[in-house]
Amino acid sequence: MIINEIFYSLQGEGFLAGVPSVFVRLAGCPLRCQWCDTKYAWDQKAGKNYSVDKIIQTVQQWPCKFIVITGGEPIINSDLPKLVQQLKAADKHITIETAGIAYIPDMPCDLMSISPKLSNSNPKDLALATIHKDSRLDLAVLRELINYYDYQLKFVVDKQADLSEIQQTIEKIGSVNLEKVTLMPQAATRDELLLKSPMVAEICKNTGFAFCQRLQVMLWNNKKGM
Ligand code: SF4
Repeated sequence: MIINEIFYSLQGEGFLAGVPSVFVRLAGCPLRCQWCDTKYAWDQKAGKNYSVDKIIQTVQQWPCKFIVITGGEPIINSDLPKLVQQLKAADKHITIETAGIAYIPDMPCDLMSISPKLSNSNPKDLALATIHKDSRLDLAVLRELINYYDYQLKFVVDKQADLSEIQQTIEKIGSVNLEKVTLMPQAATRDELLLKSPMVAEICKNTGFAFCQRLQVMLWNNKKGM
């Protein structure tokens, strides 16, 4: 598997925010979201080739039960099931962070952390925008993921007007447990996070959705590997 980075930090987002975790970042993502904060992991070759055994060995250097498999987009990696199985055999709690663009059944994954991409993520480049538009939202796949796995749905909010698209998306997916929905300010820097957080907080108060913090931005201003 091409590994972009493996590091120990705190989970920054979602319902496990604050939990010390080892991050395994796989290389490769086809979506090219305009505000992506891990562009360095887009390329499928953006990293070093690791065997699954070497990944397990590397994560074991930290006495930490929680593993976050992230990207890039990990769910398009054909070796993902093998990695998840071996991490589970090592008694790890496993979160997979995905945009929800593919479905793999039967993985012993404890939390599928799904961040369906809204139109606010469209790339500005026209050629990339076409690829992005065709693959960013697959409702059938999202339904399968939430039916099979314990999950959270993280939506990135850039502006107040995004709320209606979020509500429509939830409605189209159907059977979403609203207590598993969390809204996250679109922010690549601490300043941007502080600027947009009050707007997202107000949306959360009005809708009952949970506010999703971004500790990696707040604490380390999104520095790579932190
Ligand atoms: S899906 Fe995630 S990793 Fe891929 S481009 Fe979008 S934000 Fe970046």
